[in-house]
Parts: sequence; C-alpha cells; structure tokens
Amino acid sequence: MKIVAAKKILKANDQLAEENRQKLTAAGVFCVNVVGSPGAGKTTLLEALFAALDGRLRPAVIEGDIAGSIDAERIEKLGVPVVQINTQGACHLDASMIAAAAEDLDYSAIDLLLIENVGNLVCTAGFDLGEHLRIIVLSTTEGDDKAAKYPAIFQGSHALVITKADLLPHTNFDTRRIAADMKRLAPKAETFQVAALTGEGIAPAAEWLAAKCAASATDD
Ligand code: MG
Ligand code: ZN
Repeated sequence: MKIVAAKKILKANDQLAEENRQKLTAAGVFCVNVVGSPGAGKTTLLEALFAALDGRLRPAVIEGDIAGSIDAERIEKLGVPVVQINTQGACHLDASMIAAAAEDLDYSAIDLLLIENVGNLVCTAGFDLGEHLRIIVLSTTEGDDKAAKYPAIFQGSHALVITKADLLPHTNFDTRRIAADMKRLAPKAETFQVAALTGEGIAPAAEWLAAKCAASATDD
C-alpha cells in the first residue's frame, strides 16, 4: 500500500499554485482568494464590490461550492464571467481546481479574478491557490472570537472585511476585540467594515482593491 503524506500533497499544491500565480501575473490578471464561513456574506460582498467598481475593471469570478451553482448564477446575472467549481464534498479549493477552472476563462479579457472559496475557516488556510491577495470575510453575527479561534486563516490574509455591520447594534460583536487580534495575527492587513446589502462602507474596500490591482499592473 502506498501512503502519501499530507505534507507531500501540500508541497505539490504549492508548486501548482506558483504556476497558477505566474500565469496570472504574466497575463496581467490580479487574483484574490475570498475566504470565510458559510453565510459570512462573501457573494453579497462580491456583488457590492462589482457595483462599486462600476465597470472600472474587467472582473471574473471562480465560485467554489460543494454542490450547485446558486452563487455563480448570482454573479452571472451581473454580466460577470464566472466558472463554478463543484468540489463534491471537498471542503476547500486547491490549486489544481483553479488550474482546471482557468481553462474556461479568457485571461486576456480579465483584470481582476475573484475566487470565492468554499465556506470554511479551517483548511482553506492550508491551500495556496496562486492568488496575489487573500481577503477574509467575517460577519458580525459569527462573533468577534473567530480570529482567536481560527488564527491561520486570518494570519495569511491581506484584508479583513467585517460584513453585516448594520447588525452590530443587535449583536455583542466587539470590533475592538477583532482589531486587537488582527494587530497580533496580521498587523499589515487592512480592515473594512461594510453592510454590503445597503452598500455602506463598500466604496473604501472597492478603492483599496482597485489600487492593489493597479499597483500590480505597474509592477511588471
Ligand atoms: Mg457565497
Ligand atoms: Zn478542506
């Protein structure tokens, strides 16, 4: 019997992720891995960001879900190119899935590729997809203790988007607690507080993303 160590699988993933990143960079596509729990509001955030960007960048989306295409259909309605990955049980995306999905995307027509990962705060942290940035989405209803309890996914992220900020008065979510944890885990990460359904706070997040995208384009 052949036993493959998890470490080896992760190493293979890292190599493939690096290939993905090189292809994306060469094509001038800025890629962002959007992670967070189921129900954190990842898809709603993407919808709000596209509305705020208002055609400024040419976006595309890769949707990762265990089953179905509910989120991809929402993105398609906005006229944004989208590829749905069904992981059929797997609780995270990996670099090989992104390489396969990329075959259905025309990189020459894309500036910004957003990958909505499977809703999961645990193993999504272990799989580099080849992205340039990672955004962690945390809703006020999930609780302010999540960074302390799931440090790895927060640690590697470049921005924290706190969603459902309009519900703050109805929760015991303490923004100071999450800020303190982020200072410890990811001191360079930006934090945005948004209510994506109303658009509140979305503009600064969209501007930050557009600036990151533009900066990467002038890098090479
Ligand atoms: Mg979603
Ligand atoms: Zn997983």
